[in-house]
Amino acid sequence: MVLILKNNPEVKKVDELLEKIAEMGLKTQVVGGASHTIVGLIGDTSHLIPEDFLHYEIVDTVQRISESYKAANRKMHPDDTIIDIGGRKIGGGTFSVIAGPCSVESEEQMKEVATDVKASGASLLRGGAFKPRTSPYAFQGLHGEGIRLLLEAKKATGLPIVTEIMDINTLDLFADVDVIQVGARNMQNFELLKALGHSDKPIFLKRGLANTIDELLMSAEYIMSGGNNNIVLCERGIRTFETKTRNTLDISAVPILKKLTHLPVFIDPSHAAGISWMVEPLSKAAIAIGADGLMIEVHNNPKKALCDGAQSLNPEQFDTLMKDIRRRVEFEGKTLA
Ligand code: PEP
Ligand code: MN
Repeated sequence: MVLILKNNPEVKKVDELLEKIAEMGLKTQVVGGASHTIVGLIGDTSHLIPEDFLHYEIVDTVQRISESYKAANRKMHPDDTIIDIGGRKIGGGTFSVIAGPCSVESEEQMKEVATDVKASGASLLRGGAFKPRTSPYAFQGLHGEGIRLLLEAKKATGLPIVTEIMDINTLDLFADVDVIQVGARNMQNFELLKALGHSDKPIFLKRGLANTIDELLMSAEYIMSGGNNNIVLCERGIRTFETKTRNTLDISAVPILKKLTHLPVFIDPSHAAGISWMVEPLSKAAIAIGADGLMIEVHNNPKKALCDGAQSLNPEQFDTLMKDIRRRVEFEGKTLA
């Protein structure tokens, strides 16, 4: 249930209202928007009568939210969430590109890729230090050393870094990471999500291989219920019967998510397609359909990549794509971060 307050409510009256709601055993989330203040009631509200809240003179309207996700619900927060990452904005009319290799492999590789993607206009640098691999014999990532190399690349280029966490026990290693990624395979690792709810780091939450849009929103809700509201959602392709692509990009997830939630929505065309030539058309589709950004894998030598080389662009291909992305983003009336 959400209470939409009248304009400029008296602080004392808002406090009284929040106290009453707390006495009912419910949590609240207060969102101050451009025109209205909204109070979200979190907990079991099934026994409440919405009209009862109209007795409070500061309450304008009351709306029941039937969806189980509350904090992530756009009804709760009509304005787009804009996330600030070291002065760079994500969401709300800004289009951002996160680029970098699937895995951090060496100092030379990270320096080269980071310099190149920055020159082409990427706004964040990615690289996996902990890799969720199907085979235990495949390259598992450089772990702490990988994060150190990412931080070096950040120092050299100024680009904020995004990297995946798989185990909450490694959280200390992420102290200087700008954005923590939760990968597709961990989208429903609820203990990990709960722990990240207490972190102050923005979370890049990827949709699971076989998860519905509602399940993705409930995973965001897990993080938000702990107090961390800085979440970017990412559609990265889902499992279907189709075998021509690595996954099937569910492009319709973008308008659906934009309608249901205020959180920024990204597309990862690299993991969706699994093949580099398809990154360009899927990126164009993402911009046209209203995504807030892209995550693209770029490797200085894709043929030699230790992970996901087939879907990685080389720096020249990425540069060409970025020129096109810039034109298209501006055509949509957005700004490239
Ligand atoms: C990744 O981004 O490196 C990754 C492993 O992606 P996903 O979780 O979407 O498979
Ligand atoms: Mn990858």
